[in-house]
Amino acid sequence: MVLNIVEYPDKRLRQKSKEVSSFDEDLHLFLDDMYDTMIDQSGIGLAAIQVDNPIRALIINLPDEEGNQDKEQLLEMINPVIVEKEGEVFYQEGCLSVPTFYEDVKRFEKIKVNYQDRHGNTKTMEADELLAIAIQHEMDHLEGILFIDKLSYARRKKFEKEYKKFQRERKNKLSKSA
Ligand SMILES: [Zn+2]
Repeated sequence: MVLNIVEYPDKRLRQKSKEVSSFDEDLHLFLDDMYDTMIDQSGIGLAAIQVDNPIRALIINLPDEEGNQDKEQLLEMINPVIVEKEGEVFYQEGCLSVPTFYEDVKRFEKIKVNYQDRHGNTKTMEADELLAIAIQHEMDHLEGILFIDKLSYARRKKFEKEYKKFQRERKNKLSKSA
């Protein structure tokens, strides 16, 4: 089932997500809904809080070289913690909760993450390149942080202006077609 995405500047995105303690069927159904929502919105990652459920869960499904998202490659991370990090890298990020806006953000180049899978099994993963960036982006959501928070003052101001324009235009479009 496709869920509604909470969009900036909605304050619900600012909550700190809670640790997951029951790895039951409700969690599994919710993770499946997160997947449906991410694919429906053509996203490569999604945190639970973006569909209004502040629990420490995120999913990532990176496209392969042909641009296909193979569900076999779907990564589900519950209660993730970064235990090692090194280097730095800039990458142009976007977010389903901040539609139409993309900007360069600084991240660690390589990370090591401890997390649990949907059954509560403990896992460790080393990640670099786009996967490392996506994990850091989604983990920020668990702390109520958005990628636009990492922009310089001038870029943030530019963003606020552009985003207001986008919101206005979309509202106009909707009222015309209704
Ligand atoms: Zn995001």
